[in-house]
Amino acid sequence: MFGLIGHLTNLEHAQRVARELGYPEYADQGLDFWCSAPPILVEDFTVTSVTGQKIEGRYVESCFLPEMLATRRIKAATRKILNAMAHAQKQGMNITALGGFSSIIFENFKLEQIPQIRNIKLEFERFTTGNTHTAYIICRQVEQATQKLGIELSQATVAVCGATGDIGSAVCRWLDAKTDVKELLLIARNLDRLSCLQSDLGRGKILDLESALPLADIIVWVASMPKGVEIDPTVLKKPCLLIDGGYPKNLGTKVQHPEVYVLNGGIVEHSLDIDWKIMNIVNMDVPARQLFACFAESMLLEFEKLYTNFSWGRNQITVEKMEQIGQVSVKHGFRPLLV
Ligand code: NDP
Repeated sequence: MFGLIGHLTNLEHAQRVARELGYPEYADQGLDFWCSAPPILVEDFTVTSVTGQKIEGRYVESCFLPEMLATRRIKAATRKILNAMAHAQKQGMNITALGGFSSIIFENFKLEQIPQIRNIKLEFERFTTGNTHTAYIICRQVEQATQKLGIELSQATVAVCGATGDIGSAVCRWLDAKTDVKELLLIARNLDRLSCLQSDLGRGKILDLESALPLADIIVWVASMPKGVEIDPTVLKKPCLLIDGGYPKNLGTKVQHPEVYVLNGGIVEHSLDIDWKIMNIVNMDVPARQLFACFAESMLLEFEKLYTNFSWGRNQITVEKMEQIGQVSVKHGFRPLLV
């Protein structure tokens, strides 16, 4: 069995979902209540591969909300993730994906130093961030969507916002090694980490967001922002492809312009329906088929019986591992979202 640990995008979303799912005791409560709420096992489901293989999975809601970081409730945020991991392990899940902010909190607050949760010793090899598959899918979205739009990568400038992150750095490495992209623009806040990335890649221009946006034909957003930013489409090149891979979304509002194409980044489409509620809850357009690539990674590891923390730590994702997970992604019937 595989597991998925997820969270909702904000307090209002969490209250609405709690009401819909029949948890009225959570629905009318404020942030303090959510800070003390235990993880919830929301549902069990079966996933069928195009090979015919079937696997069983479970979704655990950690009850973490991004507002906990914004209001410095760090202890609550870290407790949510550790408790959800302990819960998943106790349920006997072989491999569990840490969705959205779960892996970011795990890394940023060094939670590997706290393996003992009450009577459970966390076995970290049973968890994966899912970031290798996410980075692979975003890169394939760049390659395939540009082709559809008639943007030549060899003539294109790609801006990666969140370039020094786990996913962003992997995207940069792939685009450098596997494509003939003309120019890479590297965006993040910490200049030391940007300089390290630039020297590892041996290329890339370090720019702030405002300077980078008007220069980019393609913008990949993979910054860990608890709340999205608003951008003015008039400053962008036309045409421009925006791939928003953040969860919650990095873009605060819907960009409305006929020549600016916005794609949900890091989302895969499965070839067969999955009978589950969870992707409805997070407002996927086609909830029976579409899901986060990080969740799909734990499915792929379960299909392949690769019981290992395939994606772990920070900035360790290699192009070879992206190719490896990409091959099994195709084999089991997943493809990058392109509309
Ligand atoms: P990391 O924490 O490893 O990296 C985040 C990056 O964003 C860093 O480069 C950071 O650099 C940068 N950043 C953060 N805030 C800002 C800001 N305000 N302006 C500019 N840059 C910023 O995160 P991950 O790579 O693990 O995840 C990235 C995003 O992808 C998250 O939103 C996450 O939820 C989402 N995600 C999506 C998945 C999917 O399946 N679709 C799966 C997993 C994650 P600095 O701090 O120096 O600014």
